[in-house]
Amino acid sequence: MDSQCLFCRIVAGEIPADVVLETASTLAFRDISPQAPVHVLVVPKAHHRDLRALAEADSALAAELLEALGAVAALENLDHYRIVFNTGTEAGQSVFHVHGHVLGGRPLGWPPG
Ligand code: 5GP
Ligand code: ZN
Repeated sequence: MDSQCLFCRIVAGEIPADVVLETASTLAFRDISPQAPVHVLVVPKAHHRDLRALAEADSALAAELLEALGAVAALENLDHYRIVFNTGTEAGQSVFHVHGHVLGGRPLGWPPG
Protein backbone atom coordinates (compact mmCIF):
# COMPACT_ATOMS: atom_id res chain seq x y z
CA MET A 1 0.00 0.00 0.00
CA ASP A 2 1.19 3.48 -0.94
CA SER A 3 -0.15 5.88 1.69
CA GLN A 4 0.17 8.77 -0.81
CA CYS A 5 -2.07 6.97 -3.32
CA LEU A 6 -5.77 7.82 -3.43
CA PHE A 7 -6.88 4.40 -4.67
CA CYS A 8 -4.69 2.52 -2.18
CA ARG A 9 -6.44 4.56 0.50
CA ILE A 10 -9.86 3.65 -0.91
CA VAL A 11 -8.84 -0.03 -0.99
CA ALA A 12 -7.70 0.28 2.64
CA GLY A 13 -11.06 1.79 3.63
CA GLU A 14 -9.47 5.09 4.68
CA ILE A 15 -11.51 7.03 2.11
CA PRO A 16 -15.14 6.03 1.58
CA ALA A 17 -16.34 4.81 -1.80
CA ASP A 18 -19.56 3.45 -3.28
CA VAL A 19 -18.39 -0.13 -3.81
CA VAL A 20 -20.02 -2.14 -6.60
CA LEU A 21 -17.95 -5.33 -6.44
CA GLU A 22 -15.13 -6.65 -4.31
CA THR A 23 -13.11 -9.74 -5.13
CA ALA A 24 -10.05 -11.16 -3.38
CA SER A 25 -7.74 -9.06 -5.55
CA THR A 26 -9.87 -6.22 -6.97
CA LEU A 27 -12.25 -3.47 -5.93
CA ALA A 28 -14.87 -1.71 -8.07
CA PHE A 29 -16.46 1.58 -7.02
CA ARG A 30 -18.43 4.40 -8.62
CA ASP A 31 -16.50 7.35 -10.03
CA ILE A 32 -16.97 10.50 -7.94
CA SER A 33 -17.45 12.55 -11.12
CA PRO A 34 -19.44 10.28 -13.45
CA GLN A 35 -19.12 10.89 -17.19
CA ALA A 36 -22.00 8.53 -18.04
CA PRO A 37 -25.04 7.09 -16.20
CA VAL A 38 -22.83 4.12 -15.28
CA HIS A 39 -19.23 5.03 -14.48
CA VAL A 40 -17.39 2.53 -12.32
CA LEU A 41 -13.66 2.31 -11.63
CA VAL A 42 -12.09 -1.12 -11.17
CA VAL A 43 -8.68 -1.41 -9.51
CA PRO A 44 -6.38 -4.19 -8.39
CA LYS A 45 -5.95 -3.97 -4.63
CA ALA A 46 -2.18 -4.08 -5.13
CA HIS A 47 -0.54 -0.85 -6.27
CA HIS A 48 0.72 -0.74 -9.86
CA ARG A 49 1.05 2.62 -11.59
CA ASP A 50 -0.50 1.71 -14.93
CA LEU A 51 -1.62 -1.17 -17.11
CA ARG A 52 1.81 -1.89 -18.53
CA ALA A 53 3.40 -2.03 -15.09
CA LEU A 54 0.63 -4.35 -13.89
CA ALA A 55 0.90 -6.67 -16.90
CA GLU A 56 4.68 -6.87 -16.58
CA ALA A 57 4.62 -7.47 -12.81
CA ASP A 58 1.63 -9.80 -12.41
CA SER A 59 -0.16 -11.07 -15.49
CA ALA A 60 -2.50 -13.23 -13.39
CA LEU A 61 -3.68 -10.13 -11.54
CA ALA A 62 -4.13 -8.33 -14.86
CA ALA A 63 -6.42 -11.17 -15.94
CA GLU A 64 -8.36 -10.91 -12.68
CA LEU A 65 -8.79 -7.19 -13.30
CA LEU A 66 -10.24 -7.89 -16.76
CA GLU A 67 -12.56 -10.49 -15.25
CA ALA A 68 -13.78 -7.96 -12.67
CA LEU A 69 -14.34 -5.33 -15.37
CA GLY A 70 -16.56 -7.75 -17.25
CA ALA A 71 -18.37 -8.72 -14.07
CA VAL A 72 -19.13 -5.07 -13.32
CA ALA A 73 -20.59 -4.57 -16.80
CA ALA A 74 -22.83 -7.60 -16.20
CA LEU A 75 -23.84 -6.45 -12.71
CA GLU A 76 -24.79 -3.05 -14.12
CA ASN A 77 -26.81 -4.75 -16.91
CA LEU A 78 -24.74 -3.16 -19.65
CA ASP A 79 -24.82 -4.73 -23.12
CA HIS A 80 -23.11 -1.69 -24.67
CA TYR A 81 -20.23 -0.20 -22.77
CA ARG A 82 -16.66 1.00 -22.97
CA ILE A 83 -13.65 0.03 -20.87
CA VAL A 84 -10.98 2.74 -20.72
CA PHE A 85 -7.47 2.70 -19.25
CA ASN A 86 -6.15 6.23 -19.45
CA THR A 87 -2.37 5.87 -19.38
CA GLY A 88 -0.10 8.88 -18.86
CA THR A 89 -1.02 12.46 -18.14
CA GLU A 90 -1.53 13.42 -21.80
CA ALA A 91 -4.06 10.61 -22.14
CA GLY A 92 -5.95 11.83 -19.09
CA GLN A 93 -4.51 9.65 -16.31
CA SER A 94 -4.75 11.59 -13.05
CA VAL A 95 -4.49 8.77 -10.50
CA PHE A 96 -1.38 6.63 -10.85
CA HIS A 97 -2.86 3.39 -9.52
CA VAL A 98 -4.05 1.38 -12.50
CA HIS A 99 -7.81 1.50 -13.00
CA GLY A 100 -10.23 0.60 -15.74
CA HIS A 101 -13.25 2.83 -16.27
CA VAL A 102 -16.52 1.04 -17.10
CA LEU A 103 -18.71 3.55 -18.93
CA GLY A 104 -22.23 2.92 -20.17
CA GLY A 105 -25.91 3.74 -19.97
CA ARG A 106 -25.86 6.20 -22.87
CA PRO A 107 -24.65 6.13 -26.47
CA LEU A 108 -20.87 6.58 -26.47
CA GLY A 109 -19.33 8.47 -29.38
CA TRP A 110 -16.32 7.26 -31.34
CA PRO A 111 -13.58 8.38 -31.69
CA PRO A 112 -13.45 9.65 -28.14
CA GLY A 113 -11.68 12.94 -29.03
P1 5GP B 1 -8.10 8.96 -14.55
O1 5GP B 1 -8.29 10.43 -14.88
O2 5GP B 1 -6.81 8.74 -13.81
O3 5GP B 1 -8.25 8.04 -15.75
O4 5GP B 1 -9.30 8.56 -13.62
C1 5GP B 1 -9.36 8.92 -12.28
C2 5GP B 1 -10.80 8.97 -11.92
O5 5GP B 1 -10.90 8.99 -10.51
C3 5GP B 1 -11.53 10.23 -12.41
O6 5GP B 1 -12.58 9.83 -13.30
C4 5GP B 1 -12.05 10.88 -11.13
O7 5GP B 1 -13.34 11.42 -11.28
C5 5GP B 1 -12.01 9.73 -10.15
N1 5GP B 1 -11.81 10.14 -8.76
C6 5GP B 1 -10.93 11.08 -8.30
N2 5GP B 1 -10.99 11.17 -6.96
C7 5GP B 1 -11.92 10.24 -6.56
C8 5GP B 1 -12.42 9.84 -5.28
O8 5GP B 1 -12.01 10.34 -4.23
N3 5GP B 1 -13.37 8.88 -5.26
C9 5GP B 1 -13.85 8.30 -6.41
N4 5GP B 1 -14.80 7.36 -6.27
N5 5GP B 1 -13.39 8.64 -7.63
C10 5GP B 1 -12.44 9.60 -7.71
ZN1 ZN C 1 -2.18 2.74 -5.12
